[in-house]
Amino acid sequence: MIKTIGFVAHDSRKEELIDWVKYNAETIKHCTLYCTGTTGRLIKTALVEKLGDECPEVNALLSGPLGGDAEVGAMIAEGRLDMLVFFCDNLIVQGHQNDVLGLSRLASLYNIPYASNRSSADFIISSPLFTDKGYERMIPACIETYKNRKLK
Ligand code: PGA
Repeated sequence: MIKTIGFVAHDSRKEELIDWVKYNAETIKHCTLYCTGTTGRLIKTALVEKLGDECPEVNALLSGPLGGDAEVGAMIAEGRLDMLVFFCDNLIVQGHQNDVLGLSRLASLYNIPYASNRSSADFIISSPLFTDKGYERMIPACIETYKNRKLK
């Protein structure tokens, strides 16, 4: 079951993300949301408008270029996010490109569902596993193996 979701959208894709969030407001209202700063502010406004008192907890971290992507990445590594929705601008290189790449790498490494575009987000949110309390995400064995690696 997905209880916590991380949201990041670059400026050119914020409108697309907000539209998706509004469309899926009823489904995500039971989740706790963690977002990069500006994305979080926009999501909060949209959800308050749509859901009023039923708006879920929306936590705005630092703005992405100021360390917010790295914060979201750290939350993934700490096991605090069940899912990532990250709508990245694929047509420009960002000043914080290293953090952008790091975030998608961590989502892959820790085996969390990761939507990089709207159709992926649609498929994930409409999966029965989204609300399945019995589903447990596997933590890849390579993580334990790496922690226990032998060093001379
Ligand atoms: P923002 O950050 O939500 O603060 O705009 C997004 C990003 O560029 O990573």
